[in-house]
Amino acid sequence: MKRILITGAAGFLGSNLCDRFISAGYHVIGMDNLITGSMKNIEHLFKLKEFEFYHHDVSKFVSVPGPLDYILHFASPASPIDYLKIPIPTLKVGSLGTHNLLGLAVAKKSRILVASTSEVYGDPQVHPQNEDYWGNVNPVGPRGVYDEAKRFQEAMTMAYHNVHLIETRIIRIFNTYGPRMRLNDGRALPAFIGQALRGEDLTVFGDGSQTRSFCYVDDLVEGIYRLLLSDYFMPMNIGNPDEITIKEFAEEIIKLTGTSQKIVYKPLPQDDPKQRQPDITRAKKILGWEPKVSREEGLKKTLEYFKSLPKDELYKSTHL
Ligand code: UDP
Repeated sequence: MKRILITGAAGFLGSNLCDRFISAGYHVIGMDNLITGSMKNIEHLFKLKEFEFYHHDVSKFVSVPGPLDYILHFASPASPIDYLKIPIPTLKVGSLGTHNLLGLAVAKKSRILVASTSEVYGDPQVHPQNEDYWGNVNPVGPRGVYDEAKRFQEAMTMAYHNVHLIETRIIRIFNTYGPRMRLNDGRALPAFIGQALRGEDLTVFGDGSQTRSFCYVDDLVEGIYRLLLSDYFMPMNIGNPDEITIKEFAEEIIKLTGTSQKIVYKPLPQDDPKQRQPDITRAKKILGWEPKVSREEGLKKTLEYFKSLPKDELYKSTHL
């Protein structure tokens, strides 16, 4: 049985990855410091002998007993509100945490896949973004703590690949949504659905003309799985190219939830990217991957998940 360490295991993506690798027959070792993750996302796994969990901050030395075939580094705050609140842990998990896990990969001779992000492209001047674009990032702006940590992560991962000759994979993840997203993490989708379910107006930032391209979590997980098992070590975009303005997106949520609330406009946060759409030519060619779930279908499933949560979750504050 192959053994895989998944950091950020109690988070949105990490917990979905735990499920995927368990059903594919792996022994999964989850690790999380639970700053933004929730045990609720993985409690169903504790009864399985194929799953174990370490409550640990990967910014500190990481030790795991026994052999390790694979490491997936998915620990990091990932919403702008979160990393504005905890900028230093965000910088540390992307830099020191990545360094520790690369060291572990050398020691265990594991293949390691690190979760990078479309944020490495910053507020992009190239559209759509392909992997050869170097980005437009403000290092000292509010998003710099996340963007630069992830850029450092990529540089460090390539250096370990070149110096220690370990097997590395780098995925650049574009906006992703689905069950287990935190309702109060400040991102557009949970914010809009939460507001609609509470009977509040939907807060669109700026004039809502900025664009994003939303990928359903099952599609993303499939892309990660294929990239890990491929032999491709350069960065790979995984995301859904179906681009939409944030205003149109809010209107879709209004329609989907049937709320009678309307859109209200709030100031655009600093350095908010104006447009974002992945060029997935590389993933199509090398992994034979492309997203399968339409936004209509994905949003329905996500709404069902949010509706199934205890009602008081809807009223929890956004504070970490
Ligand atoms: N956004 C918004 N209202 C909200 C939350 C977010 O209009 O209540 C906007 C945000 O300014 C951005 C887009 O929605 O332009 C996506 O934001 P999100 O935080 O989901 O992700 P990111 O900016 O990291 O892509």
